[in-house]
Amino acid sequence: MPRFEYAPAPESRAIVDLRSWYGLFIDGEFVPPADGGVRKSVNPATEEVLAEVAEAGPADVDRAVSAARTAYQRVWGPMPGRERSKYLFRIARIIAERSRELAVLESLDNGKPIRESRDADLPLVAAHFFYYAGWADKLGYAGFGPDPRPLGVAGQVIPWNFPLLMLAWKIAPALACGNTVVLKPAETTPLTALWFAEICQQAELPPGVVNILTGAGPTGAALVSHPDIDKVAFTGSTEVGRQIARAVAGTRKRVTLELGGKAANIVFDDAALDQAVEGIVNGIFFNQGHVCCAGSRLLVQESVYDELLAALKRRMGTLRVGDPLDKNTDIGAINSGTQLERIRTLSQIGEQEGAQPWSPPCQLPERGFWFAPTIFTGVTQAHRIAREEIFGPVLSVLTFRTPAEAVAKANNTPYGLSAGIWTEKGSRILAVADQLRAGVVWANTFNKFDPASPFGGYRESGYGREGGRHGLEAYLG
Ligand code: NAP
Ligand code: MG
Repeated sequence: MPRFEYAPAPESRAIVDLRSWYGLFIDGEFVPPADGGVRKSVNPATEEVLAEVAEAGPADVDRAVSAARTAYQRVWGPMPGRERSKYLFRIARIIAERSRELAVLESLDNGKPIRESRDADLPLVAAHFFYYAGWADKLGYAGFGPDPRPLGVAGQVIPWNFPLLMLAWKIAPALACGNTVVLKPAETTPLTALWFAEICQQAELPPGVVNILTGAGPTGAALVSHPDIDKVAFTGSTEVGRQIARAVAGTRKRVTLELGGKAANIVFDDAALDQAVEGIVNGIFFNQGHVCCAGSRLLVQESVYDELLAALKRRMGTLRVGDPLDKNTDIGAINSGTQLERIRTLSQIGEQEGAQPWSPPCQLPERGFWFAPTIFTGVTQAHRIAREEIFGPVLSVLTFRTPAEAVAKANNTPYGLSAGIWTEKGSRILAVADQLRAGVVWANTFNKFDPASPFGGYRESGYGREGGRHGLEAYLG
């Protein structure tokens, strides 16, 4: 396929005004941390330090939880839903107005292409606030009784792959239901959460309703084990999810966990193959594969294997890897050196175990963290690259002969977050979807999100649902 050349079309970063240092957001104000800890947030595409960010210690967690408790008791809990919804609509509108700035900031701090932060993350973030703003005064009609009550103070911990979107998934439903929150963003991507804190000030949200504590794992651990929170909401790895489940066991705290995945993307021989190729590429290379519901196991019916693989390789040859702020870029930087190491290690294990890697020729920038889009063929179900979450742009390709075999292989995983089906037959979509043990099943599409649609997993992918009417349940007593 001819490769079209484009001139670079970089988005300007001048729209983002970064200070050199950021404090914690507690009780409506930015404050220095009590124990003085500091971390740096870098741009993973250049390794340049973007800003220094405070690290919250146990005393800061205590301060934030107590601010959230007071705000819950005095202001936010008693406030009628129709008043709360006005604040949420205001936040949603400010996000929409400032979306270009937020998209550039997200791409700088996370490494994701501007095309994605601008066209996927930010529109979904605003949509999520608009959606839950609409529920705030209608909770009595949500199916949880005539007068459902908030839980109180929520402690929320989120990962680095969709920093602002995961914040929206956590904060919008919590606030709509009348809870107050203390949220900890991931250590490598704290900046959009701090911008969100500023947006709360801009929206004149009462102090203490939203508190943002930057920091690393220990800050998250102190938050979830704080005795005065009523609800823990976590998105991240299954390993940390287990630690959190242990930490809250035996307490009265309510918990939701959104964890990892190893989704099967199943292509039947009657599928529209070019369309399936687009879905496969979107399924595994969107956001550098740093996606919990990524279609990381491709299951192809044997009779179309050769044709599909050839088309997939052709398509991968057109993917542009590089500067996240260039509007032409399809694949940006890996979020951190640690994550890059993990992707490299698992890929090496794939080779050692006998699978064959393939990547299109592509030039990776010299500085920063990069990994070429890669597919592994000759993968068996026992291989670690078919079982473990790589969380990078790496696809394992397996084959099947019958629908029953496809279902058995798709379900042969400890996870159960998402799956994809590609076929012309509607009846096959329904029959197969019914047998897949996954929270979300996409048919002839992949990675489609809408705030009205619930999302969550089975088994080691966690429990509870976020999004939609179902997402309210996690924040109501
Ligand atoms: P992670 O290591 O579990 O971290 C997630 C968050 O928890 C981060 O804010 C992290 O802080 C914090 N944390 C670390 N140790 C903690 C502890 N002992 N107690 C409380 N909090 C702690 O996961 P990650 O590597 O950032 O994210 C990748 C994982 O998230 C993948 O497995 C992916 O599948 C999953 N994920 C799931 C969903 C979903 O909806 N199901 C969505 C996105 C991602 P630091 O960042 O400072 O370490
Ligand atoms: Mg960063």
